[in-house]
Amino acid sequence: MKEKVLIVGGGIGGFSTAIGLIKSGFDVEIVEIHKEWKIYHVGIIVQSNFVRALAQLGVGKEAVEAGFAYRGWRWRNNDDGSELGRSEGVSSAGPEYPADLGLARPALHRVLYKRVTDLQIPLRQGVTFKTITDDGDKVHVDFTDGTSGAYDLVIGADGAYSKVRELLFGSQWRPQFTGQGVWRYNLPRPKDLEWAEAYITDRSRSIGTVPLTNETMYIFVTSPEPGNPFFEPSTLADEMRDRIRGRGAKVEEFMEQITDPSLVVYRPLETCVIPAPWHKGRIVLIGDAAHSSTPHLGQGAAMAVEDAVVLAEELDKDAPMDDRLNAFVTRRFDRAKFIADSSALLGEWQMNPTPDADPMGLYERVRVFIGEPI
Ligand SMILES: Cc1cc2nc3c(=O)[nH]c(=O)nc-3n(C[C@H](O)[C@H](O)[C@H](O)COP(=O)(O)OP(=O)(O)OC[C@H]3O[C@@H](n4cnc5c(N)ncnc54)[C@H](O)[C@@H]3O)c2cc1C
Repeated sequence: MKEKVLIVGGGIGGFSTAIGLIKSGFDVEIVEIHKEWKIYHVGIIVQSNFVRALAQLGVGKEAVEAGFAYRGWRWRNNDDGSELGRSEGVSSAGPEYPADLGLARPALHRVLYKRVTDLQIPLRQGVTFKTITDDGDKVHVDFTDGTSGAYDLVIGADGAYSKVRELLFGSQWRPQFTGQGVWRYNLPRPKDLEWAEAYITDRSRSIGTVPLTNETMYIFVTSPEPGNPFFEPSTLADEMRDRIRGRGAKVEEFMEQITDPSLVVYRPLETCVIPAPWHKGRIVLIGDAAHSSTPHLGQGAAMAVEDAVVLAEELDKDAPMDDRLNAFVTRRFDRAKFIADSSALLGEWQMNPTPDADPMGLYERVRVFIGEPI
């Protein structure tokens, strides 16, 4: 048995890291603050680097089967629906894997959770840390369930509002609101719809649909939300319809189907990349805890799973802990920052277009970039 590792957070990054580390023989435990899973019912967009990283962890096929492999992106006129362009994805995960995948969040959670439980990785739900003390040789953790433990490494995979990050670096790094919000709602998938589609409206917002399963797709609207307003939950369907109304006959067809406010998922968009290094002593941050991005590129989950793959590879080397963690951050920092910065820039160009704004060009550059080895 190798070193003992505690992972704080049972999300996409935490579960992926646990799967990667256990394969290399580490002694891994997870604590997750929520007693009951709180997974939004809507979907996420993922691309071939996400599938490639999951395949490396041994759950690529399961993830693909749980989602809908769509053919790429099509841009359509918002009034008559005519096609304006398309970008077919290129798989970097190998010929047996798709380039683009729509995945309902609960479906992805089920795939990762099943593997964690199949591998018998200890997972305590409704539990988090009370105190974490790094004495240089071990990290001593007191938990909220009254237990305690000593670990060789603690991994903060506790998301954008990470408490582990706060413990390491104080409250100076917090997600910053970008000025936009995203609205999501699940709808039936038209039988012949095999593409994700974006409708060209005005440049201030994006409206699109993404297939999730044979039966379902989701519609998203990314809109300017000056002042980061709070919306009463009962008003969410009205508010989402308002952001589609007047944006073209084709997109208005979707509007009538958005009726149940409890099924609308609204999130203000935020981003935060903390500077390197993402570790101190024997405590390291991964995923959104280190680098959260807006969803314009659909890359947040991929970055978390890539972190898991790279961290497992680097920890498996024979070197002092500090060197292994430095190697991890060196491999990850520029890539995660480029994704977060590019996502934020796409949002900025939507809100405040400049003459040099080139969203299609940036999107295509990122498509190539994500296929590069990690
Ligand atoms: C509106 C929106 C849309 C998005 N769309 C996409 C998309 O289309 N494609 C994409 O790839 N990405 C998307 N993302 C980003 C993606 O969801 C994240 O990048 C990804 O979930 C990061 O994984 P993570 O494991 O780091 O964090 P999370 O998935 O947030 O997991 C963190 C886990 O830690 C737990 N936790 C929190 N605090 C504690 C604590 N103190 N102790 C113990 N456990 C704790 C949480 O309950 C959670 O289970 C989107 C994000 C948002 C906000």
